[in-house]
Amino acid sequence: MLTTLCILGIGGFSFAHPSIGTSLEVLPKSQVDELRALGREAIKSKDVPVGALLLYDGKIIGRGFNTVSRDKDPAGHAEVNAIRDAFGKLGLNGYSSLDKSKLLMISTFEPCQLCQGAMQTHKISRAKFIRSKPLSQLLREQAKLLRYQWNRESVGPVGLQESLFLLHPDYPGEKSQAHKTQTPSKSDSNGP
Ligand SMILES: [Zn+2]
Repeated sequence: MLTTLCILGIGGFSFAHPSIGTSLEVLPKSQVDELRALGREAIKSKDVPVGALLLYDGKIIGRGFNTVSRDKDPAGHAEVNAIRDAFGKLGLNGYSSLDKSKLLMISTFEPCQLCQGAMQTHKISRAKFIRSKPLSQLLREQAKLLRYQWNRESVGPVGLQESLFLLHPDYPGEKSQAHKTQTPSKSDSNGP
């Protein structure tokens, strides 16, 4: 099924996922041991047993496991926590200076939409995971995304966000763009 989906054409253009036709890559034992230990940490608080590693140029810069229950943190997913860990170690400026093409997220379970969003926000475009999600779950997540897109709406007062940007010394050029994108471009790591 996955193969069928991945070779489907869009508008007559066919493409194949790079993993198709290749043998399954097995992670190095050191990474597997780290992931197993992280997943076990999550079990201590009865959180979903998922572990994640954020690599930069092959070296681990962030480690994370699920802490939603432990910390009563709705964003405490393993991949988000791995990004948090990297931010804590490198600082915002240190992370911003990284060559983002060298970042790789490795997880025991395929990242959810929350984690995908955090990865996209912080320009982590490569991911590997040991267990993929079933197609039915992927489709449910897409349905949730469509539901959000359908229900989203702008409200007033117009200009509130622009006034907030004006108060901030680092966003002088955002006032005209803010209501169009809702995403400041000043930094790739500390925007809303
Ligand atoms: Zn997640």
